[in-house]
Amino acid sequence: MPLLSWLADNADERPDAIRVDDRAVSWVELRRLAAAVADELRGVDRVAVEATSTLETVVGVVGALTAGAAVVPVPPDAGPMERDHVLRDSGATALLVPAGAAGTAEGAGRAVVPVDLARRSDTVHPEPDPARTALILYTSGTTGAPKGAVISRRAVAACLDGLADAWAWTPDDLLVHGLPLFHVHGLVLGVLGPLRLGSRLHHVGRPRPQRYAAAAGSMYFGVPTVWSRIAADPDAARALRPARLLVSGSAALPAAVFADLAALTGHRVVERYGMTETLITVSARADGPRRPGTVGLPLPGVRTRLVDEHGATLPADGAAMGELQVAGPTLFDGYLDRPDADAASRTPDGWFRTGDVATIDPDGWHRIVGRATTDLIKSGGYRIGAGEVEDALLAHPAVREAAVVGVPHPDLGQQVTAYVVGDGVEGPELVDFVARHLSAHKRPREVRLVDALPRNALGKVQKNRLLAE
Ligand code: ATP
Ligand code: MG
Repeated sequence: MPLLSWLADNADERPDAIRVDDRAVSWVELRRLAAAVADELRGVDRVAVEATSTLETVVGVVGALTAGAAVVPVPPDAGPMERDHVLRDSGATALLVPAGAAGTAEGAGRAVVPVDLARRSDTVHPEPDPARTALILYTSGTTGAPKGAVISRRAVAACLDGLADAWAWTPDDLLVHGLPLFHVHGLVLGVLGPLRLGSRLHHVGRPRPQRYAAAAGSMYFGVPTVWSRIAADPDAARALRPARLLVSGSAALPAAVFADLAALTGHRVVERYGMTETLITVSARADGPRRPGTVGLPLPGVRTRLVDEHGATLPADGAAMGELQVAGPTLFDGYLDRPDADAASRTPDGWFRTGDVATIDPDGWHRIVGRATTDLIKSGGYRIGAGEVEDALLAHPAVREAAVVGVPHPDLGQQVTAYVVGDGVEGPELVDFVARHLSAHKRPREVRLVDALPRNALGKVQKNRLLAE
């Protein structure tokens, strides 16, 4: 079956199948626009795409995939160094840009190919081999310099088919989101999903609550910061009542946001877990329960396990905390030109080491404690999950955002330090508040009140930057 199977054979000419901001195309139009791009890309192996949140990006990505080329999305707001890193590291030999910007685009020696929404083609391009690379996606850079993950067409297809099953995603759906188009969440799920599974798409340009509210979708995607803004805008939240499914991912959804959304929208948000390297591997199901603070069950074909520091498998008893490892059809092929990182990322028996610490309940529900490097705090002989302390802080009415890290400490090894964005609240009050909710060793030794937390394009807190202070 073709990677974008719904798009591949579709005679539907209704004009609003795929909408980005204020422009839309039918399935037939999108196929012809993409074929025109593919005509230009013959012989190109890897193509960079200026990944603005525009219809041109969708057409460019689909055109490149139609030609069998690997897509390398370039974050539009990347600084010159990050941009240069992605362009060079990926080995892309062409750069797709919207026609209007082609004159001024800086391809640094690469062929600049315009994506022109006035050019259509009826060329029928043969379906590329499923083993070919679909995407070279750069990780978010939350813990270090972004690495290029080589993702096959087969892995993308397996991931989307698993999500179709878990979320009952069908051609009757209208998917709404406003996520950036250069990561798994916005691009693979948010664009390739509809083109394989057949739902319509409305990308609202920017993930503003009022835009989500105005879009009348059946299914909504968001990162936790988007959901927390919607929860803080009751009118926008209530407008999502008629939807079928609200989905959150890319970082942990705070329990308080889950509860507020349930009250306002009538929906218990479906949370799912994944990575650039593994695509989505674990999720709650549309036809099943949702448990706040958990990310659900493995998707079809995915296997998961917990291991300790010595590689021994831990029990799925809801208590044992270990590194989550995953195996299955959605795994990437490896990091581009990074044999060391690549070897370190897999076990000898072929499981991918996520670097995330988790617990698994006896009935299979996964809880992500956080990243082994920054979210598992070892203090005075205790192992403390940063997320639990963050949730306790967020339960205080004056706390808007919280990030907890383990700062080196001479006696304790690490001390629990909280960064808090709040409305006129003082540190000692927050320490008492946490102490009333959690055991004594989990309360922050220090609370730093800040104006904002450092976040990346997906709204993830960059804890490495907090630790570098
Ligand atoms: P880098 O690998 O460059 O440091 P990154 O890990 O943030 O960046 P991504 O691949 O975009 O790059 O993110 C994957 C990570 O996001 C996971 O390893 C996990 O830590 C986190 N994550 C994703 N979904 C969830 C979720 N539902 N709950 C908690 N954490 C999540
Ligand atoms: Mg990572």
